[in-house]
Amino acid sequence: MIRAVGHTAATSADAGTGRAVRRAVVTGGAGFLGSHLCAALLDQGVEVVCLDNFLTGTPANVAGLVDRPGFRLVRCDITDFVHVAGEVDLVLHFASPASPVDYLQLPIQTLKVGAIGTLHALGLAKDKGARFVLASTSEVYGDPQVHPQPEDYWGHVNPVGPRGVYDEAKRYAEAMTTAYRSAHGVDTGIVRIFNTFGPRMRPHDGRAIPTFIRQALRGEPLTVAGDGTQTRSVCYVDDLVTGILALAASGHPGPVNIGNPHELTVLRIAHDVLAATGSRSTVRHVERPVDDPQVRRPDTALAERLLGWAPQVPWEDGLARTVAWAADSQVLRSA
Ligand code: NAD
Repeated sequence: MIRAVGHTAATSADAGTGRAVRRAVVTGGAGFLGSHLCAALLDQGVEVVCLDNFLTGTPANVAGLVDRPGFRLVRCDITDFVHVAGEVDLVLHFASPASPVDYLQLPIQTLKVGAIGTLHALGLAKDKGARFVLASTSEVYGDPQVHPQPEDYWGHVNPVGPRGVYDEAKRYAEAMTTAYRSAHGVDTGIVRIFNTFGPRMRPHDGRAIPTFIRQALRGEPLTVAGDGTQTRSVCYVDDLVTGILALAASGHPGPVNIGNPHELTVLRIAHDVLAATGSRSTVRHVERPVDDPQVRRPDTALAERLLGWAPQVPWEDGLARTVAWAADSQVLRSA
């Protein structure tokens, strides 16, 4: 069982209020990251209420959890209202379209869930006296002019560019979370998540790794944006979940970067996917999206110092696990 505050390690039980987490609410719990978080919480003996409207997630992501004791799946749009009966010790607010393909198609829903959805999720945490953790993003740094990105870098975001709907929704959500802490005394934490990959990513969500795996398994050319020299630093999902639960247990307000600082060019990612799948596909260069960041790498010194957290899964191992899942589940192969 995790505890809701502390200042050092992931499962620290003593600092702050030391309140044990018996019941957690995960908004967006039927999404890629949310479903892994729900499973990890259940594994720690925490009851989980998963709130999702299946906008970009699916009940299939939590199909393996519905028969587990302590798990409850509730279909609801958190921009309408959030109501959960009974005690809640922790609110993990993960509801939001997250991939560029999704938020470019769903601009208003993305802004609404970042603004109104965050307000409702904070209200729940306030009512219940629960710790609240916001899933923010490295996109708050925009196309960064500081590299790697530490938490005290304010970012370089175009509010009226196509990606502004996501970046500014998350920046607003961070400001709202901070205001609930200062004005209402809610125990809040902000995690800035960097690109994460692993099983249950959707084959057409537009992110590089599931796209490349799908293309490689189907023998299609891997579509690399631009010349592929732009970089991404990708974190395996298990490492990310450990980091988020460490922040949840810490009582720290953040923001804290959680991601893997191992930086790869997009072209290298494509070639590694070809090697991992044994595919004979070729690489095809396509136009780069507007405002596509040139570089991206987290400075994780704060997470290491505060939470004792560092990623453990090497890129090649995470990729092999993801490819094995994709090949086994047929999800990426047949889509
Ligand atoms: P995802 O699309 O798989 O999951 C998001 C979930 O939120 C989906 O299940 C969706 O149906 C749900 N949702 C959206 N709007 C909702 C609403 N109004 N009411 C209820 N549910 C709603 O995305 P993900 O990759 O799992 O990302 C989860 C969170 O983590 C997001 O907040 C995202 O911004 C953040 N994040 C993810 C990454 C990453 O690499 N995956 C990186 C940075 C930040």
